Amino acid sequence: MRIKLPKIREIIEAVKALFQGPYTAKFPKEPHVPHPNFRGQYEFNQDKCVGCLACQEVCPVGAISHKDLSDRAGSAKRIMIHYTDICIFCGQCEAACISNHEGIKTSNKWELSFFDRKKESFETIEKELQLCEVCGDPIACKDHLKWISERLGELTYSSPTLYLSRLKNLGIVDDNLVSALKDYGRSDRVKILCAPCRRKTTLTTK
Ligand code: SF4
Ligand code: SF4
Repeated sequence: MRIKLPKIREIIEAVKALFQGPYTAKFPKEPHVPHPNFRGQYEFNQDKCVGCLACQEVCPVGAISHKDLSDRAGSAKRIMIHYTDICIFCGQCEAACISNHEGIKTSNKWELSFFDRKKESFETIEKELQLCEVCGDPIACKDHLKWISERLGELTYSSPTLYLSRLKNLGIVDDNLVSALKDYGRSDRVKILCAPCRRKTTLTTK
């Protein structure tokens, strides 16, 4: 039987490998540094995310979720949750993110193993929520209302909910100036309202 001799290119590669060592990383003995373009685990950006939930809508596997929490003192927050153990790295969330595709982004994090699934299989961020000043239901995250008003420009002033939340954000409107009356009528017109309360105050003639 005739033995096939190696080609010159293969011999050169073999000699190079003798001096350079193996191509594979020596992880975990040495830390592995991924390529700059490596598409690793997706992560929220607390400062860029506005809590709009567009990413939750498009995620094909339900890896993004949220919880809205409020207390009796009137403060409320939206907890955005990314379940890293079921994420399939498809990038739909980043593509749909209204915040310049920066609210959730791929990172170069590649070492994804963990010991405790209940504690380590997700990441969360918190966004402050704006509540309706009549019924107390969540309207949207404060950063999302700010994002909308920035895009609307002067049209923001056609919506009391938008301009009042903007003025409060800037510290111009004092919370204590808001009327304590809740009659779903004229006294409630200039308040931060959810859509059902806005409809009631518009249709009521009190
Ligand atoms: S990368 Fe894909 S699977 Fe993972 S959170 Fe984003 S949309 Fe969902
Ligand atoms: S801003 Fe981006 S990351 Fe944040 S909830 Fe909206 S789509 Fe998701």
